[in-house]
Amino acid sequence: MEECIFCRIARGEMDADILYSDDKVVAFRDINPQAPVHFLVVPRKHMVSALDLAPDDSDILYNIFDVIRSLSETEGIARSGMRILTNVGEGAGQVVMHMHFHVLGGRNMLWPPG
Ligand code: AMP
Repeated sequence: MEECIFCRIARGEMDADILYSDDKVVAFRDINPQAPVHFLVVPRKHMVSALDLAPDDSDILYNIFDVIRSLSETEGIARSGMRILTNVGEGAGQVVMHMHFHVLGGRNMLWPPG
C-alpha cells in the first residue's frame, strides 16, 4: 500500500526542504511553488482534510497558525500580505490527502482564485 507522502516527510523518510518541525507540526517548501514564497504546514497526525478535525485537535490548529505566523515573519511576507489556504477534496484541487495549509506570498494575489 502506498503511504501518505506527508506522513513520510514528517517522519524524515522522504526528503523535503524543512523550514520548521516539532512534535505536532512540520513545515516545508512546496516542491512546485506557485509564488516566490510557498510553503506547506502540516500536522504530524494524519487526517485527510480540515473536515476531519476533532475537538481534541484544537491545539494542532493553534500550533499550525503559530508556525505560519512565525515563518511568515522569517520569510518576509507577514507585512506584504500572504494567502493561507487549505484545499478540501478533489473538486477543490486537493491531491495530497493529508490536511495541509498552503502559505503563499511575495507577489500580488488574485481574487477570486482559479
Ligand atoms: P493540494 O493540491 O492542496 O493537495 O496541494 C498539494 C501540494 O503538495 C502541491 O502544491 C504540491 O506541489 C505539493 N507537494 C507534493 N509533493 C510534495 C513534496 N514531496 N514536497 C513538497 N511539496 C509537495
